[in-house]
Amino acid sequence: MKIYENAVIGGGASGLMFAASLKDKSGTVILEKNPQLGAKILISGGGKCNFTNKNISYKDYLGDKKFINATIKKLNSKWLLNWFTSRGLQYSIKNGTEYFCKNSSKEILEILKREINGVGLKLNCEILGIGKEGNIFKIFTKQGAILAKRAVVASGGLSFPKLGASSIGFDIAKSFGHKIVPASPALVGWTLQKEQSFFKSLSGISVDAKICVQNREFKAPILFAHKGISGPAVLNASLFWSKGFVEIDFLPNFDLDLIRGSKRSVSNELPLPKRFSKAFLEHINLQDKPCSRLKGEEFKKLSLFKSYKFAPAGTFGYSKAEVTKGGICTDEIDSKTLMSKKEENLYFLGEVLNVTGRLGGYNLHWAFTSGVKCAAEVTKS
Ligand SMILES: Cc1cc2nc3c(=O)[nH]c(=O)nc-3n(C[C@H](O)[C@H](O)[C@H](O)COP(=O)(O)OP(=O)(O)OC[C@H]3O[C@@H](n4cnc5c(N)ncnc54)[C@H](O)[C@@H]3O)c2cc1C
Repeated sequence: MKIYENAVIGGGASGLMFAASLKDKSGTVILEKNPQLGAKILISGGGKCNFTNKNISYKDYLGDKKFINATIKKLNSKWLLNWFTSRGLQYSIKNGTEYFCKNSSKEILEILKREINGVGLKLNCEILGIGKEGNIFKIFTKQGAILAKRAVVASGGLSFPKLGASSIGFDIAKSFGHKIVPASPALVGWTLQKEQSFFKSLSGISVDAKICVQNREFKAPILFAHKGISGPAVLNASLFWSKGFVEIDFLPNFDLDLIRGSKRSVSNELPLPKRFSKAFLEHINLQDKPCSRLKGEEFKKLSLFKSYKFAPAGTFGYSKAEVTKGGICTDEIDSKTLMSKKEENLYFLGEVLNVTGRLGGYNLHWAFTSGVKCAAEVTKS
């Protein structure tokens, strides 16, 4: 029976980049559960794949900063951008720092597919578990067993199960004695308690707001949705929320004193969508009348627009979460090689590890560069 040099579990961002970065590609096989590679790459960034950010820093991630920095310090956004553009990628920049494919995520996937030429590929190949006999890994799949000298687990987190996500990476890690930092959905919208259900009637409206959670502030748009609230401010704040209260400032750049004494109605004066202002005024039991007619206590109540405290009911869950927070504890992974400290020649890459970036290209940057780093080490040995 053939013994591969490297068996890569998962043909997503990190697994593809690992294989693409190997000098000698013969002897490596990618095992992917889906009928196609890189399903998440294709839908990422709204179909244009926000693959890195000009300002990549360990500060943009949850997880062990030293561990993360060991990879991204050298393999920074300039490096990654050059890797892709030197292979023909055209990009555009949004919000000043976020790099996207100019036309479509397909362009990045096509580059990666080209670069893995020579690597073996088994699609529709679901991994069920891994064992080790002597120095050889035995990888159990629905298509039978596969033998390899190195097992590279690049199977991602739990979000978007419809695109192939599974707990196999965590299961493999546990079976080799690794600790898992409890996982939860992140970069995800919040569901609401009954008292905030009026937000749902505002579905489709977006407001520029500031969310405060655990003494951190996130200034960006909030989007009201049928299920609850979402949008960049909520997604980033969700990284730091597990339960309890959050505070929203719906008027982060506005001084309420400016409307004191105005003859126009509150909803006409506030720089917010009128439908939102009216619904919020109703929620706080305040009549939408000319500002000049608001009595002292009534005017004070307007400050709720600037500091509205409530407790989300929960999150939209893994079916909508962009990433998984938590994962394989990096204390037990060598930051120089990404090899397990518990089992020789067992490697872990990408989102399966306890490394979670904020919105803006940080998660794909981690997935890609952890693949590059591991391939460089494997090539050396
Ligand atoms: C809707 C959405 C939009 C996103 N947009 C962005 C963005 O613009 N920028 C950004 O930085 N990040 C974005 N992300 C996050 C980013 O896509 C992930 O962090 C990244 O893909 C993780 O790479 P990975 O290689 O670790 O895992 P994945 O890319 O998830 O790859 C894992 C692979 O393993 C396979 N697999 C799983 N279980 C098994 C099994 N049992 N057997 C065989 N194969 C298996 C999966 O099918 C998958 O192909 C987005 C995520 C989502 C869901």
